[in-house]
Amino acid sequence: MAFTRATGKHRAPSRLTRRSAQVAGIAALATTGVIGGVSSPALAADSEALTAGSTGLTQAVAIDSTLADQIAAQAKAQQHQADLAAKAEAKAEAEAKARAKAEAEAKRKAEARAKEAREAEARAARAAERARLNAFHLPVAGSQVTTGYKSGGALWSSGSHSGVDFRAASGSSVVAVGAGTVVEAGWGGAYGNNIVLRMADGTYTQYGHLSSMGVSVGQSVTSGQQIGLSGSTGNSTGPHLHFEARTTPEYGSDMDPVAYLRAHGVQV
Ligand SMILES: [Zn+2]
Repeated sequence: MAFTRATGKHRAPSRLTRRSAQVAGIAALATTGVIGGVSSPALAADSEALTAGSTGLTQAVAIDSTLADQIAAQAKAQQHQADLAAKAEAKAEAEAKARAKAEAEAKRKAEARAKEAREAEARAARAAERARLNAFHLPVAGSQVTTGYKSGGALWSSGSHSGVDFRAASGSSVVAVGAGTVVEAGWGGAYGNNIVLRMADGTYTQYGHLSSMGVSVGQSVTSGQQIGLSGSTGNSTGPHLHFEARTTPEYGSDMDPVAYLRAHGVQV
């Protein structure tokens, strides 16, 4: 052993070395928590509380801020929903109003159409009534002319026939050919019992040789209304109806009775 060690004084570890070892020991102790244990627990607790408090406050503020944001967002969402609901309600209301308006309009149109139809029907009825009233008739229904207008013969004082004769058995119904007023109803000499009507258009018609008369002067008659019965009174060779059309009530203002009837739409 002595051979491996240098000859000389066996020195103890140097002071520096010892100090270093001490410092290292203290450092080692410090790492084991001994120094920590030396620290004040109260200070540590305060420090922790402060830290926790600070953190808590920060969290609270953070929570408060988040909550406010969430509430605001929720309020905004709710407002949005309310707005949407209000809009939907307004839209539904507008649609309902539009439907009601359309229905009212359709009803009004239907009523207008119905009214128009009723009016058209009434107009048609009035037109039909006017047509019926204005329509002319043969003086004896279903009869034919047996002796024409202006035919010559000794029978007539003028030398010619001033009217036409219609075939009619005695007692046949004689009617007004159109609407008018009775201006004569009585004995007419050669015409026998005769009736003269002033027609609505201002012309005159005469019905002669009647067996009986059913109207009197001043009476209004409608077209087709019976005014008497046919016969053979006056200057007549047998039962028939003598019919004349005149421009005045007087004898001699005669016109073609067939043309007159035809002009009023009568088939003769
Ligand atoms: Zn005649």
